[in-house]
Amino acid sequence: MEVTVAAGRMTIVQDVDITFRSDMTVELIKHAASDADVIWAARVSTKGEQTLAEIDVDPERSAGLINFLMRDRHGTPFEHSTMTFYVQAPIFVFREFMRHRTFSYNEESGRYRKLNPVFYRPGPDRKLVQTGKPGAYVFEPGTPAQHELVTEAVEDSCRQAYAAYLAMLEAGIAREVARTVLPVGLYSSMYATCNARALMNFLSLRVCSDEAAFPSFPQREIEMVAEQMEAQWARLMPLTHAAFVRNGRVAP
Ligand SMILES: Cc1cc2nc3c(=O)[nH]c(=O)nc-3n(C[C@H](O)[C@H](O)[C@H](O)COP(=O)(O)OP(=O)(O)OC[C@H]3O[C@@H](n4cnc5c(N)ncnc54)[C@H](O)[C@@H]3O)c2cc1C
Repeated sequence: MEVTVAAGRMTIVQDVDITFRSDMTVELIKHAASDADVIWAARVSTKGEQTLAEIDVDPERSAGLINFLMRDRHGTPFEHSTMTFYVQAPIFVFREFMRHRTFSYNEESGRYRKLNPVFYRPGPDRKLVQTGKPGAYVFEPGTPAQHELVTEAVEDSCRQAYAAYLAMLEAGIAREVARTVLPVGLYSSMYATCNARALMNFLSLRVCSDEAAFPSFPQREIEMVAEQMEAQWARLMPLTHAAFVRNGRVAP
């Protein structure tokens, strides 16, 4: 591959293996999260003493209590849980993700390590054409020619950008300067830790669902991350998840 970075000044020849991905990684790394966490936290208000064993005493009543808390938006009992997710996604997804201030984040550094050549390339299922107006966009499938254009444009520009990045590193330029040329389609990785209440707010905004009382229309790529997080959370806290859905996916 030959890349001209600035006409007449530098020609870079690099043979680099570039990885293109269309998927997102979401792994639940650790957790202390269960429906029981909601129950004991809520029941202290009426019982006072230790309420840790409460969920098994009357499971049906526990489900009812969780539903009541969700419906009436008593949110704090949902904060007594933690989940840590390891996420690999393009930088443009992280930029949206990190607007959620109730999560804690740690992300790989582009200053302390050389960034890997892994880039996002929209997959064949990604709808490409946007119609409508802000707040009410509709996305429709692209034609084969549009898919080909996107694939070629993404691959060519990512290869060029990464070759320029490497050329600068090899010339002794600092990583924090060289990364200037890398696009937001570059994959990054992070740990994101949240409680169930914060997660519900995230899901209410980042998953488009027919069951939502207040529908949101997120970018598909962050929705792909959110869907995986929701599936993993639903296994940990099935009663809470069911109540969230039943009450219109509104964060309490
Ligand atoms: C479809 C969509 C489109 C978007 N488009 C844009 C855009 O064009 N431009 C843009 O800048 N952003 C945009 N955003 C981001 C959006 O404005 C929010 O920053 C993001 O969704 C995080 O929401 P949040 O503040 O509820 O979450 P969090 O930061 O996790 O906060 C959770 C909740 O805590 C409370 N809270 C947190 N911080 C404060 C505070 N300082 N004061 C009072 N209450 C607080 C609020 O109740 C909040 O809902 C978009 C988001 C979505 C889902």
